[in-house]
Amino acid sequence: MSEEQLELLKKKLVVSVRSRQNLERTYEQQFATLTGFINRLSNVCKGIDVELDNRLAKLRSYLAKNPDMQNIAPLLTHIEQLLSQHSTRLALNLKQTTSTLKAAGKQLQQVKNLDPDFRRELRGYMQALEEPKASILHYLPYIEQLAKLYHKCLAIQTGNQAPEIDTEALKGLQSDISAELVNILSNIAFSGENAEKIDAIREILSASVTPEILVSSCVEIIRIIIKSITEERQSAQSFLFSLNDALNSVHTAVASSINGSQEINESKQALNDRLKKDLAGMSAEIEKAKSLDVLKKQINGRIADIVDALTQKEELEHQEHDLLISSLSEMEERLFELEKEAEEYKKKLSEQRFKSLQDALTKLPNRASMDERMELEYRRWMRYNHDLCIAVADIDHFKSINDTFGHSVGDRVLQIVAACLQKGLRETDFIARYGGEEFVMLFPESKLKDIEKRLNDIRMEVCKIPFKFKNSDLVVTISMGLTQFKAIDQPQSAFDRADQALYDAKQGGRNKVVLKR
Ligand code: GH3
Ligand code: MG
Ligand code: MG
Repeated sequence: MSEEQLELLKKKLVVSVRSRQNLERTYEQQFATLTGFINRLSNVCKGIDVELDNRLAKLRSYLAKNPDMQNIAPLLTHIEQLLSQHSTRLALNLKQTTSTLKAAGKQLQQVKNLDPDFRRELRGYMQALEEPKASILHYLPYIEQLAKLYHKCLAIQTGNQAPEIDTEALKGLQSDISAELVNILSNIAFSGENAEKIDAIREILSASVTPEILVSSCVEIIRIIIKSITEERQSAQSFLFSLNDALNSVHTAVASSINGSQEINESKQALNDRLKKDLAGMSAEIEKAKSLDVLKKQINGRIADIVDALTQKEELEHQEHDLLISSLSEMEERLFELEKEAEEYKKKLSEQRFKSLQDALTKLPNRASMDERMELEYRRWMRYNHDLCIAVADIDHFKSINDTFGHSVGDRVLQIVAACLQKGLRETDFIARYGGEEFVMLFPESKLKDIEKRLNDIRMEVCKIPFKFKNSDLVVTISMGLTQFKAIDQPQSAFDRADQALYDAKQGGRNKVVLKR
C-alpha cells in the first residue's frame, strides 16, 4: 500500500470516527430528550391509574440506566395497552361525572324560595352541562360553579329561615305571654257565665301551656269579650226601646188632653155666650116690661135657662178635671215605669264600672283604677304641693310558689298578701294590683321617711303570714321600691323611679324596701 493510499484510508477513518461520534451524540441527545419527555409525561399522568404509574416509573428507571431498546420494547407495549384501556375508562368517567353533576343541579332546582336570578343561573349551568366534554379536566370549572351555586343557595336558605329556634327562649316567651294575658283578664269585668268561663281560661293559662293552647285560649277570650259586649249592647238597646215607648205614650197622653180641653173650652165659650145673651136679654126685657107679672114670667124663663147653662158649665168643668186627672195619672204611671227602668240600668252601669275598676282575684282596685287615681293625685299634688309618695311592691320568687304548689295556691297567696298590704295602709292611701304579683301604692300628704318605715312594717307582716301548704311551711316575702314626686316629675317618671328602686331591692337580695330620691 502506498503512502498516499494509507493517508487516504487514515483520513476516511477519521471522518467515519467523527461521524460515528456525531451520530452517538445525536442519539444521546435524542435519548435525553425522550427521557425528559417521558419523565414529564409520567408526572402529568400521575394518579390517573396505579398500574400506569408503576409502568412509567419502571420505564423511567430503565431509561436512566441507558438500557438498549430491546429491554424497553415490551414495557412500552404494556404501557400502550394501559393507555388505550385508560381512554375507555375516561369515557366512562366522563359519563358518570356528567350525570352526577346533573343530579346535583336538579336537586338544587327543587329547593324552594329561590329567587329568579338564582334560578336563571342554575338553568344556564344545566344547559352548559349538556355539551360534551373531552376530559375530566374540562369539568373543573363546572364543579367550581356548582360549588358556588350550592354556597349561594345555602346562604339564601339560611337567610330565609327564621333564626334558629331557641326552645328555652320560646318557652320563656310563651309563659310571658300567658302571664300578660292573665294580667289583662284581671282588668276586664265579666259577669255570670262569662266570668266563669274566663276563670277557667285563667286557670289553664297559669299552668305551663303549649303554643296551641295559648292560641286557642286567646281565641276563646276574644269570643267571650265579643259576647259580653253584645250582651251589654243588647241590654242598653232594650232600655232605649222602653224609654222610647214611654216617651211615646206620654206624648199621646199630652196630645189627647190638649185636644180634650180644646173641645171643652169651645163648649164653655158657647155656654158663656149663652149666659151673656140671657143676661142681656133679661135687662132688655126689664126695660120693656109693661107689667110685673109678664116680667116675672119672662125672668123666670131666663133664670131657668141660666141655671141650665150653669149646670152644663159645671158638668164641662168636671169633665175637664177628670180628663186632666186621667191623663196626668197615665203619664205618671208611664214615668214611674221609666224611672224604675232607668234606676235599674243605672245600677247595672255603676256595677259594671265598679267591676271594671276592680281586680277580680284580690278585690283590690285594678290597673285602670290605678291610672285614674294616679291622675287625680297628681293633679292634687300640682295644686296643693303636698308630699306625694309612690311605691311598687312585688312578691319574691312567686313563680316558684306557683311551680311548687300549683296555681291555685299561688292565687291564694296573692289574695292573702293583697289583704295584708291593704291592712297596713291608711284610709287616704291607695293600693292597686298593677298586674301579676305586683302592687302599686300611692301615699298623699306623706313624708318619705314615714312611708319607708310603714312599708318595712308591712314587709315584716307579710313575712309573718303563716302559710301552710302540702304540710310544708311557706314563707312569702315581698320587695318594694319607694320614691317621692319631685318638681320635674310626671306620673310615669315617678312610677319608673319607684320601679327602678324595686329592681334594686331585688338585686340587693329581695325582702327589702329600697328608697330612691
Ligand atoms: P322575682 O322575685 O324576681 O319577682 O321573681 P318572680 O318569680 O316573682 O317573678 P316572675 O315575674 O318571674 O314571675 C311572676 C309569676 O307570677 C309568673 C306568673 O305566672 C305568675 N302570675 C301572674 N299572675 C298570676 C295570678 O293571677 N295567679 C297566679 N297564681 N300566678 C300569677
Ligand atoms: Mg315577683
Ligand atoms: Mg313581677
